[in-house]
Amino acid sequence: MATKRDYYEVLGLSRDASESEIKKAYRKLAVKYHPDRNKEDPSAAEKFREATEAYEVLKDAERRAAYDRFGHAAEEQGAGPGFGAGGFGAGGVEMDLNEALRRFMQDFGMGDIFGGGGGMGEEVGRRQGRNLQVTLKLGLREAAAGVTKKIKVQKQVRCPSCEGSGAAAGSRPQTCGTCRGAGRVRQVRQSLLGQMVTEAVCPACGGRGQTINDPCDNCRGTGTVRGEETLEIKVPAGVTTGNYMELKGKGDMGEQGGPPGNLRVVMEVEDDDLFERHGNDVLLDVPVSPFDLMLGTRLTVPTLDGKVALKVPAGTQTHKIFRLRGKGVPNLNRPGAGDQLVRVIAWTPLDLSTEHIRRLKELQGELEDQVPDPGRHLFD
Ligand SMILES: [Zn+2]
Ligand SMILES: [Zn+2]
Repeated sequence: MATKRDYYEVLGLSRDASESEIKKAYRKLAVKYHPDRNKEDPSAAEKFREATEAYEVLKDAERRAAYDRFGHAAEEQGAGPGFGAGGFGAGGVEMDLNEALRRFMQDFGMGDIFGGGGGMGEEVGRRQGRNLQVTLKLGLREAAAGVTKKIKVQKQVRCPSCEGSGAAAGSRPQTCGTCRGAGRVRQVRQSLLGQMVTEAVCPACGGRGQTINDPCDNCRGTGTVRGEETLEIKVPAGVTTGNYMELKGKGDMGEQGGPPGNLRVVMEVEDDDLFERHGNDVLLDVPVSPFDLMLGTRLTVPTLDGKVALKVPAGTQTHKIFRLRGKGVPNLNRPGAGDQLVRVIAWTPLDLSTEHIRRLKELQGELEDQVPDPGRHLFD
């Protein structure tokens, strides 16, 4: 693929172009290169697509600011972290032609450029249920090991009285007389590009292709009611806050038998009492007696997965970090794991008798010259 051209260059604008200049420039290019108008010239479609992509970014103040700062890299960040279907990298870097045509229709409609009202961007057919999002809270150890969780999702479910049709018992939805069930009606109109036959959503049935004369009492004709579904979510090992799973068809049921939306389950990994997570590494602070640091010892330390022995050599300074390789959080969807870092912290005895103090002072006198003088150490 060729390198992407600068969006301002694509639209023939300077970097300080105003919003209305951007819109005007795009509109001009879009009409000029619209594929319907350039059937002989296949390169026009690419120019149309490129201009639409540039316009979609520059018309949005936030995306434009990001583009101004980071260039095309700003758009390559994708849709945020995630995994599984629709997860990582779902944010398109490059818009395809169909998407460009759809966006053009959405932004300018038929009325603006082609004359006449209505748009083809509207949804046709039975309406899909809404997409839903829920948060799934996990403990750090659950996130590290992977876990199966049950969640209850409040959502629109199929109406049991009419089984989703929306029609009262004993009656049925009728095929729409206006569109004969197609959900669309054809319209012929004059436009900049000549005579155009377009299809629009049927105004009588809203695109459903059927009408309900005797609506179900329970759902008032929508075919859906408020309900709850319990789902079992298999969370893989290694997830982090913000990772999500996209469950197809687990969102709201569509009205009058329309397809259901999707459910996005977003992970929220809670802080742990013992372990502090840094990416896939975890840090554990362990209090140790100063005698153990001086003389050396063997510690038993907890990890995310059972206990392990840790040798602390003689002459270890406080706050030294020991690394237990592979004892951290497993990598998501690939082999390997982070490390566990164990930080030993000197724990000073507090309850000293006069005899303890006398003996410690004796030792202090003998060992003091081995310890840095704080004044010299910090201010030299
Ligand atoms: Zn019903
Ligand atoms: Zn209709």
